[in-house]
Amino acid sequence: MKCPQCHSSNLRKDGHQNGKQRFECKDCGRLFRESYEVKGYHSQVKKIWLEMYLNGMGFRAIERVTGIHHTTIMNWVKNSAQGLPEDEEDHPTVAELDELQT
Ligand SMILES: [Zn+2]
Repeated sequence: MKCPQCHSSNLRKDGHQNGKQRFECKDCGRLFRESYEVKGYHSQVKKIWLEMYLNGMGFRAIERVTGIHHTTIMNWVKNSAQGLPEDEEDHPTVAELDELQT
């Protein structure tokens, strides 16, 4: 177990949060939880990222809202987008939407 910020293993246990061990780095003071990877996020959270993305939010905008680094979100959306149905008739392009409005 190492600090995600300075990679020090000089850590102090700092109780539990959401059932996970929390650590405090004695060197830089960073607080973090045991699991620090994408797979540690709840699927509900990932669904929210995906919805934000599908509603036209950029990755950097999502990063600002969620505090999650945009490359993490980008990788995850890319992975999950492969499982999305690609039915173009149900999802008109932007150009087609413009035609409907005029
Ligand atoms: Zn540290």
